[in-house]
Amino acid sequence: MSEIKHYANVDEKLSLDKFCVDEENAHIELVENPSPEEFQKLVIACPASLYRYGDEGEMLFDYAGCLECGTCRVICGKTILKKWEFPQGTMGVEYRWG
Ligand code: SF4
Repeated sequence: MSEIKHYANVDEKLSLDKFCVDEENAHIELVENPSPEEFQKLVIACPASLYRYGDEGEMLFDYAGCLECGTCRVICGKTILKKWEFPQGTMGVEYRWG
């Protein structure tokens, strides 16, 4: 008989991480008026769901909660990002078990 293993889902794993948000210095900034097609790619691809649409369909982004994976940088680069760098010093994500 096969053994049933329990794996934590992504939300459970992410909830273990700790974030120290640098309120004074955004480590990611978007260009003005990003291309909707490029933005849509990141709505789908960002593992932290930081690219999303508001109630009126406006494009929203918040760098707090960033996992520093670089996916948005690789996929869209300068077509949508004005700035992408790692957070300074002790800022940013601190991964816990997961
Ligand atoms: S680096 Fe990763 S987690 Fe952070 S905004 Fe880009 S895709 Fe999302």
